[in-house]
Amino acid sequence: MPSGVEWAFRFASETCRSPVAAVSRWKWLSGRKAAGCIPIYVPEEVLHAAGMLPVTIWGNEFPPSPYGGVPPFVCSVAAGVVSAIRSGNWGEIDAWIFPSTCDTFQNAFEALFPPEDGRSRFPFVFPATADTHGAAEYMLDRVEAFREWAGEVSGRAVSEGALERSIRVYNENRRIFALLEERMTESPGSFSGMEFLTLSRAGMILPKEGHTEILRAALSRQGDASGNVRAKMFVTGIMATPSVMEAMDAAGAAIVGNDLALGHRYYSGSPEEEGDMPLSLARRHLRRDPCSTLHGSVRPRIEEVLRNVARSGADRLLLLRMRQCEPEAGDIPDIASASRDRGIPFLCLDVDLHAEERASAKVRIEAFVEMGE
Ligand code: SF4
Repeated sequence: MPSGVEWAFRFASETCRSPVAAVSRWKWLSGRKAAGCIPIYVPEEVLHAAGMLPVTIWGNEFPPSPYGGVPPFVCSVAAGVVSAIRSGNWGEIDAWIFPSTCDTFQNAFEALFPPEDGRSRFPFVFPATADTHGAAEYMLDRVEAFREWAGEVSGRAVSEGALERSIRVYNENRRIFALLEERMTESPGSFSGMEFLTLSRAGMILPKEGHTEILRAALSRQGDASGNVRAKMFVTGIMATPSVMEAMDAAGAAIVGNDLALGHRYYSGSPEEEGDMPLSLARRHLRRDPCSTLHGSVRPRIEEVLRNVARSGADRLLLLRMRQCEPEAGDIPDIASASRDRGIPFLCLDVDLHAEERASAKVRIEAFVEMGE
């Protein structure tokens, strides 16, 4: 009989290895629908309240299809998502939500979505900036439209009470995820990079109630792994791949903080649990951490990253640059120079979900860890 900790990692790893099987199992057991969410700012509580399973799709769930028909200039996240849809790989998904996170999805998804695919789609267009006049009213209007759409797709209207319960479920999940991140800061090496990636990713596939149980079980692990730690890393960017995490683990680099989209950025920020629920979700969106793919400008993001680097006690900053991601690319020179000005060793490593350079990631991370040892 596996211990709670073993069970947690085994279940989370299996979910990450076969997300389609996990979604399919949930649908079979519940008899309900699943909604595909393009990362990372969909207010999932609305889908949860409608009885659906929100599933975040990152584009690396299937090998890229040669018949995907995706133009070569889009990033590998968008290419992977669109190619999987066009190849009919995500048949378990009943409806799609495409937020206006970046130009690729804002402008291209209608053109790239297969015309014969009749599944319902909600283009969630966010206000361009959080502090312009009317942003809150506009966002509230979009949340209400989304609520109505989710009710129609699922056949279950989203009541205020259901939304309140879902917000509590999500907030509890965020609270426990924050404990995981806290443990990684206070006790470097307590969770490996690969374990962190697995736990983060599993929570974007599984129902949040189950994921919270997995996190609790993982957090019950005791022990001190600090003896093996050679470097304390803050990791920023869209996402890490398993190869990057394996290279960090092998080099003795402990993640003590991150603002990864597939990580802290997804799980941070809680809506209020009192008052008007749609308004609470609208407010949460407008108060999200600065992000170059959202409404923030470059400076606040960099200041926030550097504040968090200092707070985490990291001695190095690793930026994982998703190839052809325009919004994040704009931040890189400023992050590099701000990091240099503060004397923080900095490395920018390219990530491409479909052209992994495992050996080069390993060599560069090993060299980065050796710097200043
Ligand atoms: S990685 Fe960048 S360009 Fe690609 S979908 Fe995400 S925000 Fe858009």
